[in-house]
Amino acid sequence: MRIGLFGGTFDPVHNGHLSIADSFLKSGKIDQLWVLLTPFPPHKAEDNQASYSTRLHMLQKAFEGKENVNILTIENELPKPSFSFNTIRHLKQINDPDFQFYFCIGEDNLAKFHTWKFHEKILDEADLLVAKRPGADHSQVKNYILESTTFVNHEPLEVSSSKIKELLGVGELENMLPEKVLDIIRKEALYTSKN
Ligand code: ATP
Repeated sequence: MRIGLFGGTFDPVHNGHLSIADSFLKSGKIDQLWVLLTPFPPHKAEDNQASYSTRLHMLQKAFEGKENVNILTIENELPKPSFSFNTIRHLKQINDPDFQFYFCIGEDNLAKFHTWKFHEKILDEADLLVAKRPGADHSQVKNYILESTTFVNHEPLEVSSSKIKELLGVGELENMLPEKVLDIIRKEALYTSKN
């Protein structure tokens, strides 16, 4: 079994995440996508963030009924701050040793990948699957990283969690995120403090 690991803070989950997830699954490189909900790193501002359980609720609604997708809360149980390397190593320890893991990221993260803690060790455990993202540039990415990278066909969507927070209450959010997620945001009055 080939598993893609796709992590994020998903604050909130949006159509960019759903479409990138589809592209990873359609790539033929993986059989299942495991979506890892990451706790906020301690250095991130506390304002304007949804709680872990609310982000999980939105994530579950967004991926409801999608085949071959599992949502994992393991990073909330492992020591914090969450390092992807620790998560991958843990998942390898508790799953069938024949499972092959791919680490799935958007292209913006590829350019920053060399700054991630233990990034070389991540490459020892998993290859990267990378989907295109508008504005991302990987021309400076080192060869040893590119050698472990497979690019996935992807029709980029111009949307981000920060953009959604900015537009909330002032602009058009249609086509940016699933209606069910927008309903939760409105019902719980999330992201109302502007910063
Ligand atoms: P923020 O705006 O707060 O930075 P985000 O929209 O990038 O958030 P994250 O939860 O940080 O969302 O992203 C999780 C993963 O999804 C990352 O690997 C990121 O590169 C990827 N991603 C997010 N939005 C898109 C998009 N529109 N197209 C492709 N990849 C995306």
